Amino acid sequence: MPTRTAFVTGGSRGIGRACAIALAQAGARVAIAARDLTRLEETASEIRSTGAEAFAVPIDMSSAESIKQAFATAAEEFGRIDILVNNAGITRDGLALRMKKDDWDAVIATNLTGAFIAAQQVLHGMMRERWGRIINVSSVVAEAGNPGQANYVASKAGLIGLTKTLAQEMASRNITVNAVAPGFIETDMTASLSAETKDNMLNHIPLRRFGKSEDIAAAVRFLASEEAGYITGHVLDVNGGMYM
Ligand code: NAP
Repeated sequence: MPTRTAFVTGGSRGIGRACAIALAQAGARVAIAARDLTRLEETASEIRSTGAEAFAVPIDMSSAESIKQAFATAAEEFGRIDILVNNAGITRDGLALRMKKDDWDAVIATNLTGAFIAAQQVLHGMMRERWGRIINVSSVVAEAGNPGQANYVASKAGLIGLTKTLAQEMASRNITVNAVAPGFIETDMTASLSAETKDNMLNHIPLRRFGKSEDIAAAVRFLASEEAGYITGHVLDVNGGMYM
């Protein structure tokens, strides 16, 4: 099997970092991308210390120009990209009635438009190789809805639509496109939630624990593998049973 090259957006911390580590453990070379270059370099050198190849690329997923530049930089270092993990994401919560358009726009731009532009950067190379894996990190709330997160939920539901459409457009080229829908995962993104909110959530999780970044990374690594080659257009729930 050839060595695969993966590009993980939001690869500096949380779920993206765990995905990059898991893909590196599976033998891939990984480009990790985010805004904070210091954090990225820390994660990249941590991966390199295991003997794997890792490369830190600055990217701002809210800017098409930045995304194009980042993929051009990664291509110089690594050549083609075989596996894209669209993981970078932000929240700007608030009730829809009062949500500022800026907060709507920022979340859609980073979580959805950014993922679309990133996919466009890798499709030509994957088509040439007749092999590719795109994994979009959606969310349980895309399936269930969530009050206070209209922008975020719309972006994550949009990712599911994008996943299924790209899967159909790219299937004849042996490129699979899937989504992972995490439940409540302990990362910086969820760290600031109140104890009351967390307790309430725990009561709705049949497996009675919050997820770890590694739980998501395992699913992403599987969907990126050779073995997952007959799975496309799928949304894999990794949520402890909180939505079935
Ligand atoms: P996190 O700990 O907040 O990490 C987010 C990552 O995305 C960081 O590496 C961050 O790096 C990067 N990022 C944010 N904005 C960016 C931008 N404009 N351009 C480039 N990179 C950007 O979040 P997480 O919990 O690991 O979440 C990862 C993904 O899983 C997100 O898409 C999130 O929506 C999804 N998810 C999370 C949960 C959960 O419970 N944690 C549940 C469902 C889905 P910089 O800040 O340095 O750019």
